Amino acid sequence: MRILITGGAGFIGSHLAEAYLRQGDEVYIIDDLSTGSLDNLAHLQANKEYASRLFVHIDTILNRDILLELVGTCEVVFHMAAAVGVQYILDNPLRSIQINIQGTEKVLDMCSKFKKKVLIASSSEVYGKHLHAPLVETDNIIYGPSSKFRWSYAASKLMDEFTALAHYRESGLPAIVVRLFNTVGPRQTGTYGMVIPRLVSQALAGKDLTVYGDGEQSRTFTYVEDVVHALMLLAASSGAHGEVFNIGGVEEISIKNLAYRIVEMTGSSSRVKFIPYKEAFPADFEDMQRRLPSIAKLKNLTGYSPTTDLETILTKVIEFFKAKA
Ligand code: UDP
Repeated sequence: MRILITGGAGFIGSHLAEAYLRQGDEVYIIDDLSTGSLDNLAHLQANKEYASRLFVHIDTILNRDILLELVGTCEVVFHMAAAVGVQYILDNPLRSIQINIQGTEKVLDMCSKFKKKVLIASSSEVYGKHLHAPLVETDNIIYGPSSKFRWSYAASKLMDEFTALAHYRESGLPAIVVRLFNTVGPRQTGTYGMVIPRLVSQALAGKDLTVYGDGEQSRTFTYVEDVVHALMLLAASSGAHGEVFNIGGVEEISIKNLAYRIVEMTGSSSRVKFIPYKEAFPADFEDMQRRLPSIAKLKNLTGYSPTTDLETILTKVIEFFKAKA
């Protein structure tokens, strides 16, 4: 099978590429390297068996001609290209909206033209400010005002979802929407805010671990290979067309406890430092206090459950950063 991955040089995209190459498929990638990196693909390009089936195009998904060629060539499209990371969104507000809205629109138009199956990567951000748990795909959504730019990401991803579902309704386009919860693993960078790579590299460098606010906010983390497995199961399931699925973990932890655990596991002499939000982010920033997914819908359709616990995830990320140092 020929698979197109937009954003394939990114953290999740590159793991997805590897999984399809491993099972013998051809993988086409388009990535503008805005947050992705060719370093994420170097080990695949260096692998003789994979290199002949891996085609990498450094370009933007806003380029219609290249999309025409690539979507025309491939059987399944994973649209993973997006502005990601709270820090990146706050630093690049306009570019983030453009890439998320116009980019997805163009990818969907092209998939519609060629009637190709497409999986759209949305985000748990879409749920907005909910405090209840677990979050179910049909939950109502609450956002902050447009003066708080964090919500632009949620709103743009929600618009992507509507556009994909509208294509499904109007023309039967086999589109699948996934809401990815906090995904972690080797090759994720802390540059755009992601907490685990940031805290692990701080601990290994003997620096203070920066916990924002009081650290009582919580998340569930999913190992990237579990996420990739869920994406592949959904892509292979016709029952997923026109539907929205959470993909996430089941083990909830406060950021404060996460930091203490990382200090313990790395054997670091670092301290955990609590940083007021107003020092870490612009004044109009709002954090999410809690984010725990229901994965019942995904499980019912595909039988999927995550298999990597937080202990193993942290061990793998720590090993990755140690090897990089
Ligand atoms: N966070 C933190 N210290 C950091 C980076 C992040 O305390 O150095 C917190 C952040 O405020 C949030 C959680 O960790 O409450 C997860 O942040 P991340 O950016 O990884 O993902 P989010 O869930 O916010 O998209």
